[in-house]
Amino acid sequence: MKIAVIGSGYVGLVAATCFAETGNHVICVDIDEQKIENLKKGIIPIYEPGLEPMIQKNVEDRRLFFTTNLPEAVAESLVLFIAVGTPSGEDGSADLQYVLAVARSIGLCMDSYKIIVDKSTVPVGTAEKVQAAIAQALQERGVDIEFDVVSNPEFLKEGAAIDDFMKPDRVVIGAENVRTLEIMKELYSPFMMRQSRIITMDVRSAEMTKYAANAMLATRISFMNEIANLCDLVGADVSSVREGIGSDSRIGHSFLYPGVGYGGSCFPKDVKAIMRTAREHGMKLQVLDAVEEVNKRQKEVLVDKVLNHYNTSAVAGALKGRHFAVWGLSFKANTDDMRESSSIVIIRELLRLGATICAYDPEAMDEARKIFGDAIHYAAGQYETLENADGLLIITEWNEFRRPDFERIKQSLKEPFIADGRNLYSPEKMQQMGFTYRCIGRDRTP
Ligand code: NAD
Repeated sequence: MKIAVIGSGYVGLVAATCFAETGNHVICVDIDEQKIENLKKGIIPIYEPGLEPMIQKNVEDRRLFFTTNLPEAVAESLVLFIAVGTPSGEDGSADLQYVLAVARSIGLCMDSYKIIVDKSTVPVGTAEKVQAAIAQALQERGVDIEFDVVSNPEFLKEGAAIDDFMKPDRVVIGAENVRTLEIMKELYSPFMMRQSRIITMDVRSAEMTKYAANAMLATRISFMNEIANLCDLVGADVSSVREGIGSDSRIGHSFLYPGVGYGGSCFPKDVKAIMRTAREHGMKLQVLDAVEEVNKRQKEVLVDKVLNHYNTSAVAGALKGRHFAVWGLSFKANTDDMRESSSIVIIRELLRLGATICAYDPEAMDEARKIFGDAIHYAAGQYETLENADGLLIITEWNEFRRPDFERIKQSLKEPFIADGRNLYSPEKMQQMGFTYRCIGRDRTP
């Protein structure tokens, strides 16, 4: 099948590559000329495990192409995926300007039947707006060309995106007619593994499904963060509690890990957007109000633990003269994405309190430099951060932080103090090794 994917970011690039991998002819479009130039040279703009070799292979096999020329891509393709960003607008709503700009551009150049697929996360009713934008452009040209708009939200996780796309739990397709549905099913059929299935529904329900899924996942995280904070107060261990509740098949083990609060380019903006949709319909999503509030608070918990350790409060300058090592900056492991990362809130607060920082992340150093500039120091490796540091803060759960050389850490730090926002180590073992170890929901300080 001939496909164009418009928007070559985390979602577009992965989707395009995986569609090419299954034999389709795929053109990746972006307005960012530098990005397309780089992709043509084999320089991949994001870190996503397994993506680079897969792109290389499909480019070499002449199934995957990159361009900034939308009309050419539209002319050559039957199915057009819109995978551009939908960031939060000022009022919390999803900003649809990029999606609708693409829709209009398609309408201004298409000359035969097309299926336009909303892959971006977009609020209920967006497919109608896309339909209207294309129809308007066609009308301006004085032409009448048939097209269909389909909703096909994406559920991949950064860091495991290839696997998620190639072996999805499910594919959701919202379509209003059988012909487009059949084409979409055919496109996705190679990805249907034993456990996978295609779930078809009306367009509005498909649009809603994506927000409901992310809102549910964000809710689980905030719920577990609150339980963890309570565990700290009553002297319980949240890891045991997690196992205890996760083994209930009605609850399940996924997404029960407390930490430094959720971040990333999806949960914060999608929770805001569904709340906004509710408000527009005169309804308040009270659970999500609390989910957001808890998440905001959770981003402060690690710094509170540091302040607690030094027996001081959060007044500006309270940590003056203190220097900290930070391991992990991306919003989660296996990605270079720092959008809405909790590390930003934590580091800015430490700086406000007067501390200095030396940070390391396996993949997000370039992104971090764009955010913090000269305000912090950057190290070439995890152990290099420790020099002259009063303590170590762990913010991202990268695998290489899980089994470090504890002797080396102890010798390098001025004092063996670790504040771990991801519960990577055993509190008992850390204590045996002589560390003062603070983590989330296992501090047992009633
Ligand atoms: P991104 O910011 O990484 O990529 C968007 C790309 O679109 C950029 O390269 C940008 O240059 C390009 N673009 C913008 N306007 C364009 C135009 N007019 N023509 C061509 N290209 C244009 O975004 P992303 O993280 O890939 O997210 C895309 C959408 O997918 C969002 O709606 C997001 O909510 C959703 N989503 C993201 C994830 C994720 O993990 N990142 C997962 C599921 C769904």
